[in-house]
Amino acid sequence: MIRINEHYTKLKASYLFADIAKRVSAYVAANPSKPVIRLGIGDVTEPLPPVCIEALHAATDEMARRETFKGYGPEQGYAFLREAVVQHEFAPRGCHVEADEVFISDGSKCDCGNLQEIFSTDLRLAIPDPVYPVYVDTNVMAGRTGANVEGRYAGITYLDSTPANGYVPAVPTTPADLIYLCFPNNPTGAVATRAQLAAWVAYAKQHRAIILFDAAYEAYIRDPQIPHSIYEIEGARDVAIEFRSYSKIAGFTGTRCAYLVVPKTLQAYDAAGQPHSVHALWNRRHSTKFNGVAYPIQRAAAAIYTPAGQQQTRALTDFYLGNARLIREAVTRLGLSCVGGDNAPYVWVNTGLDSWAFFDRLLQQAQVVCTPGAGFGRCGEGHVRISAFNSRANVEQALARIAAALA
Ligand SMILES: *Cc1c(COP(=O)(O)O)cnc(C)c1O
Repeated sequence: MIRINEHYTKLKASYLFADIAKRVSAYVAANPSKPVIRLGIGDVTEPLPPVCIEALHAATDEMARRETFKGYGPEQGYAFLREAVVQHEFAPRGCHVEADEVFISDGSKCDCGNLQEIFSTDLRLAIPDPVYPVYVDTNVMAGRTGANVEGRYAGITYLDSTPANGYVPAVPTTPADLIYLCFPNNPTGAVATRAQLAAWVAYAKQHRAIILFDAAYEAYIRDPQIPHSIYEIEGARDVAIEFRSYSKIAGFTGTRCAYLVVPKTLQAYDAAGQPHSVHALWNRRHSTKFNGVAYPIQRAAAAIYTPAGQQQTRALTDFYLGNARLIREAVTRLGLSCVGGDNAPYVWVNTGLDSWAFFDRLLQQAQVVCTPGAGFGRCGEGHVRISAFNSRANVEQALARIAAALA
């Protein structure tokens, strides 16, 4: 008899975006003359930068000729992209990362989900709340948690991100083995200082733990004091893996390209306490279960590192940050406190009200869709996330409607 992985039955159904869609379509059906503006999405809206389009066309033409055709590429990614990553992302910030420590993939979501399988199932997890749901759900699937009780899984140390700590959790007083951190954060938009990250690196060293550092929004950092990479922190090569993605930097959410940095100095231990190379384990996993990102896509990603590509991606993130600034200013004028939006494309608004009630109020009175914070975890209650991923005209119109409705 075929049996299921019963850990899947512990998963809380992901009602958030389905619930939002249901409420929005009910509203639209009842009010067909009132157009709705969606500031709830975590997906980009602007097209790929022209350099990426040119690279895609050129690489497609290469695939059309026998002399330049590419079959299977290296599972870890082409050297041209791995080397460009080191040269443009890490070397200028003084981070020691080698090209063969960079693993090109089809997305950070997949990397997050896949990476945990090289670690033991009985390790102690520390995961932020509110959070990108992938970190929690993939560990539930793997059997690292108990049942979900009132929205929280047994076996996870939740790192509360609240107004009291500025939405940047301090290290816990209890030990953990695998720690997830995301800065700039989704959903809060908060960033971590050098000192805050250094405390996490010290904690990980003390407990021989590993930090999975999700830097998907790194390109939105404008404050020069804020680290872009965890490897800017002394000693991080011994305790941290970093996730990077082209999705939010360059509009690759539908094109799919990301990478993982796994330092060769990183170790994890077997039951006898013997150290093993995490790089070797991940390389084994990646080359066994993955066959590389499409050549034209890797060429498109590498085009971002040309001078024109750097200028175009900067203009793209500047554009979204311009939307975020308008959102932040409008929210502040309404007397609500918020974080994010200055080094991230999300504004996290502390409404002090039930997050679904506030969502309904914005939808009914302003025809604007936001994301209720409770959908990201218990600490998200009382908050909503407003996304800067939209056209300028839509953002301006949405903010004018919100101001009129809440005034
Ligand atoms: C969007 C996002 C990613 C990127 O995921 P991809 O699979 O590379 O598109 C990673 N982490 C967080 C927190 C995100 O919001």
